[in-house]
Amino acid sequence: MTSSLSALDDAAVVAGIAAWARVESPTHDAAGVNRAMDLVAAEAGEAGLATERIAGRDGLGDSILLRAGRGSQDRGILVLSHLDTVHPVGTLARDLPVRVDGDRLYGPGVYDMKGGAWLAFQAFKEVARAGRAALPLTFLFTPDEEIGSPTTRAIIEDLGRNSAYVLVTEPGRDGGKVVTSRKGVGRFVVEIEGRPSHAGTRHADGRSAIREAAHQILAIEGLTDYARGVTTNVGSISGGTAENVVPQHCRFTVDLRVETHADGEAYSNRILGLSPVGDGLRLRVTGGMNRPPYERSPETGRLYEQARAFAGELGFALGEVPRTGGGSDGNFTAALGIPTLDGLGIDGDGAHTLQEYGLISSVRPRMRLMARLLEELH
Ligand SMILES: [Zn+2]
Repeated sequence: MTSSLSALDDAAVVAGIAAWARVESPTHDAAGVNRAMDLVAAEAGEAGLATERIAGRDGLGDSILLRAGRGSQDRGILVLSHLDTVHPVGTLARDLPVRVDGDRLYGPGVYDMKGGAWLAFQAFKEVARAGRAALPLTFLFTPDEEIGSPTTRAIIEDLGRNSAYVLVTEPGRDGGKVVTSRKGVGRFVVEIEGRPSHAGTRHADGRSAIREAAHQILAIEGLTDYARGVTTNVGSISGGTAENVVPQHCRFTVDLRVETHADGEAYSNRILGLSPVGDGLRLRVTGGMNRPPYERSPETGRLYEQARAFAGELGFALGEVPRTGGGSDGNFTAALGIPTLDGLGIDGDGAHTLQEYGLISSVRPRMRLMARLLEELH
């Protein structure tokens, strides 16, 4: 099977992923993200794939949609990859140049997730070329996953509803394990307005927004319940103007993670329902659940078992990680009840750090696994 995949050696794997990693594509740099999309479009064109480019909006990059396989009315297989990274332009030249060290390929986005996007794309092209897929195949490359997919969520959900299976190429974990459940993610902004006054002469007249924030932050962080799988994190804060002014304003952001839809609703409501502790202060909370929880359904369990069996035939063990705290675009499709298997990308480590790398030896086995899934799921 998949003859041209077998012809790819390590040098070709490194060259292919390195070429994608060298096109820096932080989410908010639409031009950079679009240059990464250009690489996909050019390769898809050479492969003769039906390619649709969906224009970006709200200042973000474009998406690319590829279709292959049978043009039937059957619900097919959707592959999801994002080409944006968290690394600002300049990371490549300064802190994380593309380089090989033994089995490790370093570079911005190599692990999360250009390595996975690249390997899945090679498998997709091969299966499309050979015309062997049992189901219609769709591949969506997105520009904004790292900021919660604000401009592509609706596209992902529309495609997901018409799919029998969703395969997500986020990185493999802990020795290449795949992901079958993820926590849901909520994002909130808390803005507090107090009353400014001179900290020396008029202290009693002031209503400190920062003091109020301190109360609220402890209350919010106190919602963390590890046994329940619920965490809250106040991740950034700003406020006040000077040492000698009782502060009028304070603003902070909250990250909420939950395991179930019910907790997503309950904890969101608790955060949105916060009220001021002190008199004479105003509290405004905005936000809500950004990604719904990705709960492991029996159908997703069966999809994993199928993938594990294919991997076994290909000569490697495919483990499954316990529920992970990080969200992905798989959360959207899993929440719609579509069997979703994630973590099918490259193995490695260091996501979102300057030590990010992918394991070169993990690419070809996982490429073959992706090809098997695309060919044989039915
Ligand atoms: Zn990612």
